[in-house]
Amino acid sequence: MENSLEYDILSVSERAKNDLKSGNKIINGSIGVLLDNNKVLVSYQEINSHLKNNLEKYLDYSSMSGNKNYKDGILKWIFGDYLDTLTKEYNSTFVATSGGTDAIFTIFSVLKNTHTVLLSDSYWPNYNQIAKQAEVRVKKYHRYDSENKFNFDSLKEAANKIDEKILLVINDPCHNPTGYNLSNEEYLELFNFIKENDQKIDILFDIAYIDYSTRKEEIVKLIAENKLNSSLYFSISCSKSFGFYGLRLGGLFALSAFPIEELKNQLKGTIRGTISSANHPAMGALAEFFNDERAMKSVKEKILKEGKRVNFIGKELHDLLVSKGFNCLPYREGFFLTFIKENAKEYLKELEKKHIYFTLSGDSNIRVAICSLNETDLKALKEVL
Ligand code: PLP
Repeated sequence: MENSLEYDILSVSERAKNDLKSGNKIINGSIGVLLDNNKVLVSYQEINSHLKNNLEKYLDYSSMSGNKNYKDGILKWIFGDYLDTLTKEYNSTFVATSGGTDAIFTIFSVLKNTHTVLLSDSYWPNYNQIAKQAEVRVKKYHRYDSENKFNFDSLKEAANKIDEKILLVINDPCHNPTGYNLSNEEYLELFNFIKENDQKIDILFDIAYIDYSTRKEEIVKLIAENKLNSSLYFSISCSKSFGFYGLRLGGLFALSAFPIEELKNQLKGTIRGTISSANHPAMGALAEFFNDERAMKSVKEKILKEGKRVNFIGKELHDLLVSKGFNCLPYREGFFLTFIKENAKEYLKELEKKHIYFTLSGDSNIRVAICSLNETDLKALKEVL
């Protein structure tokens, strides 16, 4: 019987680790964790020092919705000067969560009786498991048209077929698994469609990778300048931005054109009944960090530098694949890239014989985690692919 988990990230990465243990030089493009050029997990001393120094200060439970300084700091970190505009234009609320995963689970759970979740057919595979666990209905649209452009026709067609309210998931910028970024025009087209469907469509912006995008400010500005008669949710991840993968911290920020007292209670209730409250030492470390302008400036610069390095590898690899005749989905920025290959499993098997490890994303889509590759890997791939 075929093993459906054979090309799951964890299975592939285990084979890669075993191959490495047997003394082989490997290229591991399977793991979605940012490694620096020396293959060390990227995290920031300016933040880690607070984790070490303030651990005992934050060993107690935080409140259900999270540590207030963490909340204020993370929202300012993401939305900057536009935070005031957004909180004036909309009713708002926030809960700290156990990573972006839990933020998505929380909003899926809260909306499961009223909304259908609308995903594209190229997506972070864990959405499926999260939706299953939250017991929410899911529909999909085709993300790319035959010219590999964002497929609004398919999105609109799928949305029009759904009778109840919709929670449209937009994973942008640095879409996982393709590295696609929506353009300003595409955001405006999206907002127009939401306006045409008055109150029918709410959006979940999955902004797990926003810190690694050059479009961060532009996107926040677009959202702030285009008030919608809907609810907007933002799932925030501290994994990628701060190297907090294992600490499990994130947040769900909700903005709504409507009263949100009931939503506030539902969000808090879901947190209380699942994780009870988020990781307080992790929130505490970030709360201390957000209080230190110099440290923030320094980390922002480092994130920018890391982002540039990853994007360089991504673009080089994209061009290499295209030059070798592969159909590569459009890559702009981010941790992942996807190319299409018939008999993808067979091809991945061949690559593994050459000690190269990528994962499958859909039957014929191969996902490369650029974030765990360095320039030496890139040079080697240029020769082997
Ligand atoms: N959203 C996307 C698109 C992701 O790729 C991930 C992690 O890989 C997450 C959300 C959630 O990450 P975490 O739960 O570690 O914050």
